[in-house]
Amino acid sequence: MDKPVADKRIFEWGHGRRFNSYSNHFRKLYGSRVQKVSIDAGFTCPNRDGTRGLGGCTYCNNDAFNPSYCTPVKSVSKQIEEGIEFHRKRYRHSDKFLAYFQAYSNTYSPLQRMKELYSEALAYPGVVGLVIGTRPDCIDDQKLEYLSVLSRGYYLALEYGVESCYDKTLKRINRGHTYKEAEEAIRKSASLGINTGAHFILGLPGESREEMLAGAGIISRLPLSMVKFHQLQIIKGTAMEREFESNPNDFELFTWDEYLEFFIRYLERLNPSIVVERFTGEAPPRFLAGPGWGKKRTDQIVNLVEKRMEELDTWQGKLYKNNSDKLVLA
Ligand code: SF4
Repeated sequence: MDKPVADKRIFEWGHGRRFNSYSNHFRKLYGSRVQKVSIDAGFTCPNRDGTRGLGGCTYCNNDAFNPSYCTPVKSVSKQIEEGIEFHRKRYRHSDKFLAYFQAYSNTYSPLQRMKELYSEALAYPGVVGLVIGTRPDCIDDQKLEYLSVLSRGYYLALEYGVESCYDKTLKRINRGHTYKEAEEAIRKSASLGINTGAHFILGLPGESREEMLAGAGIISRLPLSMVKFHQLQIIKGTAMEREFESNPNDFELFTWDEYLEFFIRYLERLNPSIVVERFTGEAPPRFLAGPGWGKKRTDQIVNLVEKRMEELDTWQGKLYKNNSDKLVLA
């Protein structure tokens, strides 16, 4: 998401890009690019092992989003080493890294195990912090206290999978938690000084586009430091694939053109203080069971969104004040 800026207007996030960008946020914090390196530390998920549910979220196939160098067979250090090499070959050079505990629910273990894994990552040269992906029901006071202390010495972010702010949707996709549980986990984490992020999926079945747009106002009221968005994709081997095959009319998947216009409207309603890390997520084509958007790289997508925002002369939060304290369904 790095991009030189020619725009003269400086927005409240301190630069001329039309959204509060994650890469710019880290440049401001560290004075240089910071690269995330994914880790699969062998955690599992309470929505798969029967603790909270069985079978997992209906859209879930972790392999579709897990980089090839990630496997719990390798140690955390080895995965970081290979991840750094992977990014060095493909992208711009960086000498600062965030260890991203990405696969499954990375606080779903005894605290001692978490401490060992996180300490190993933080000891790796160049690693300046942790990003820990988890579920709202996989955290407790003791773990939060530990993470809060850790965050005084390192960059640390907890990234909660929230996916939707509507319980009817969460139920339908078998998330195994409610929006209220997500809200409570986010509020508690943020109150302890932990950078708190959330992940949402746009286009889930049973949710109208108006409801999705209203979601921008709802999540804007949370003490979130950052957010990530994915458009819904139907992934092979999932319960959702079977649902899609038997009832395709139940799904209103975004085409790229629709998503571009929709997402800009969403950004206009989003609290400008929230850093936006991702607009979309692209599973490799071999995992897709539904229509895709062709070969669009993340940086191309960001460029297209920013270009369109310039044409429309709009920006993140342009309409935020109008819907920050009530739902607006348009
Ligand atoms: S999406 Fe996350 S929470 Fe849901 S089943 Fe998969 S790993 Fe578990």
